[in-house]
Amino acid sequence: MAATLDSDIQFLPGVGPKRAALLKNELGVGTIGDLLRLYPFRYIDRSTVQRIADISPDAAYVQVQATVTDVRLSPKNLKVTVDDGSARMELTFFKGLKYTAERLQKGRTFLFFGKPSLFNGHLDMVHPEIDNPLPDNPSGEKRGVLTGVYTSTERLKTAGITGKVMNRLMATALDQCLGQVEESLPDYVMRENGLVPLRFALRNIHFPQDAACLKKAEYRLKFEELFLLQLSLLKQKYVRSRSTVGFAMPKVGEAFNKCYEALPYSLTGAQKRVIREIRADMMSGRQMNRLLQGDVGSGKTMVAVLSALIAVGNGFQACIMAPTEVLAQQHFANISKYLAPTSVRVGLLTGSTPAAQRRELHAGLRDGSIGIMVGTHALIEDTVVFHNLGLAIVDEQHRFGVDQRSRLWRKSRGDVPPHVLVMTATPIPRTLAMTLYGDLDVSVIDEMPPGRKPVRTILVTEGKRHALNKFMRDQIARGRQVFVVYPLIFESEKLDYQNLQNGYEQIVHDFPFPPYKVAIVHGQQTSQEKQFNMDAFAAGRANILVSTTVIEVGVDVPNASVMVIESAERFGLSQLHQLRGRVGRGSAESWCVLVRGDKVSRESMKRLNLLCRTEDGFTLAEEDMKMRGPGDLEGTQQSGLPIELHIASLTRDGSMLSLARDYAETVLARDPELALEENAPLLREMRKDKYNHRNYSKIS
Ligand code: ADP
Ligand code: MG
Repeated sequence: MAATLDSDIQFLPGVGPKRAALLKNELGVGTIGDLLRLYPFRYIDRSTVQRIADISPDAAYVQVQATVTDVRLSPKNLKVTVDDGSARMELTFFKGLKYTAERLQKGRTFLFFGKPSLFNGHLDMVHPEIDNPLPDNPSGEKRGVLTGVYTSTERLKTAGITGKVMNRLMATALDQCLGQVEESLPDYVMRENGLVPLRFALRNIHFPQDAACLKKAEYRLKFEELFLLQLSLLKQKYVRSRSTVGFAMPKVGEAFNKCYEALPYSLTGAQKRVIREIRADMMSGRQMNRLLQGDVGSGKTMVAVLSALIAVGNGFQACIMAPTEVLAQQHFANISKYLAPTSVRVGLLTGSTPAAQRRELHAGLRDGSIGIMVGTHALIEDTVVFHNLGLAIVDEQHRFGVDQRSRLWRKSRGDVPPHVLVMTATPIPRTLAMTLYGDLDVSVIDEMPPGRKPVRTILVTEGKRHALNKFMRDQIARGRQVFVVYPLIFESEKLDYQNLQNGYEQIVHDFPFPPYKVAIVHGQQTSQEKQFNMDAFAAGRANILVSTTVIEVGVDVPNASVMVIESAERFGLSQLHQLRGRVGRGSAESWCVLVRGDKVSRESMKRLNLLCRTEDGFTLAEEDMKMRGPGDLEGTQQSGLPIELHIASLTRDGSMLSLARDYAETVLARDPELALEENAPLLREMRKDKYNHRNYSKIS
């Protein structure tokens, strides 16, 4: 039976059931088609052979052609000495000893490929790949000079699926099935984007004819991957925007206008633009699904308030859910202030709301007398029933699970979902946002309120503690307030608490009462205790607030001008940036002091130095992503980033991603259903499973 692209991988000559199971489990390769889409992650230039004498032990991979001069086999390992006339080198093997010893006979010459190292003062190579010498290496010519290297695992190697075997399997798969591969892109797409055909690309990605062909193959495959992904996301967005009915809210309303006129400041251009975008959505009669991004302090709360008032002005209710009690309370206090000129009733519902009050709030929600409800997770409990929820806003959306958020959307009565606005201060790099939230609308507040002073960031070691204390006393003498934040270091809450307590005691010792007052906030306090201490600090009754990262999210104390972050190396870059955003909100010159330990890794130093250099959240996020990779980026773990990119990289191929997205938009603008004959290949691609399980990016 001839193998096809859909044939189980076990039917590829050289595989069989055992290896097939491994390929499936280790690499996710189930069919021959899958195998062809498993691309090399690097290439070796087999055409360069180095002299042993020229090899530096730091070199990545090298290839030498040398003759075996000595073989020493012990039960534990095999040591082989080789010589290429320029110098000698040791080879060490720990596995396949007998087999290798038989092959590497004294006096015979081979091509060895591997990573050199220095061992006991001489050059050594552990488990090099062994090939026949160049002149009579028959496969060498057929393959071309660049050889693909594939991801491997210990299990695969143990089962004999070495790099060479992978190359052979790939060659067989191409021989048997390349002719069946159907072009996934229409001709015009290839022509307009300068792409080579898929078959050419697949052959050259595995066995490049030369470096230029490899480049063309890579470009084609990356573009294809990003383009099809964007096409699927944009298509979903298009389908949804046509099909999901939403509440039409045509008016701005009196409450909005009253609140707007009484604002203590004028909105920034970015805030105005974003409110216009939101208004247009809410008016449209289609359901809004919008992500609002804005750096810490960019003024998202005001946008939330005005959006909520649009809902209220049209006879609907709105709710704002925040991740912590402290933040919910602060929102409530601020919003109440903004709404003073209106007659809109605002409620606050959190886990610590007393039962009697809770009943009253529930009743107010049910009969519609409460227009805007602020709260924590308590909002999603089943007992909370809205009269007519028209807009649900989630602050710091990445702090909530998908499930929690969607429970809020279901609070709407009837079949029509509420409009949804999720806000985040985690500056998601553009490339990532485009992919992660590709089917949502994204608004960005990219402008800070005026009068914001830059925050000076400095990095100090423990040795500077004395000077730091003096600096803090100095600032306090000028009427300023200071945050001191401790990281959650240990696994156990108890130890964290201990760590914080010790720090607190030290500070109370260094800043004794009178005249100094130190407040403390941490996760083990009751919400009343937390609130009491926060209030004391916010009202200026305490000079210093010692806390864990509970203050990271959203807390606003304009008079606080110094942020001291202890053990700063333990925090992630985004988290440090968020903490720093707590200061610089007033008119005073502000400081962020990063106190680091003595032993700090190079990576951490890089992060801390970067933070000292830039205040731009998006730059930081891009850099963070480059350093850590997108999967690790704060705010994306929960959303689970199941975007499986085989060849393109969100970090490295950002500009190609923009290109691919713009092009996908062009294609859909002309043919939204992909119904045109020429787009048939695209429609076929879009029907594949992988483009139809993208619930992760839905926020509603
Ligand atoms: P975030 O985007 O981090 O939630 P906030 O909404 O808490 O930011 O706003 C930060 C601070 O900036 C608040 O004190 C708020 O009153 C103030 N603010 C917001 N918008 C403006 C503006 N247009 N002009 C001046 N100050 C503003
Ligand atoms: Mg906020």
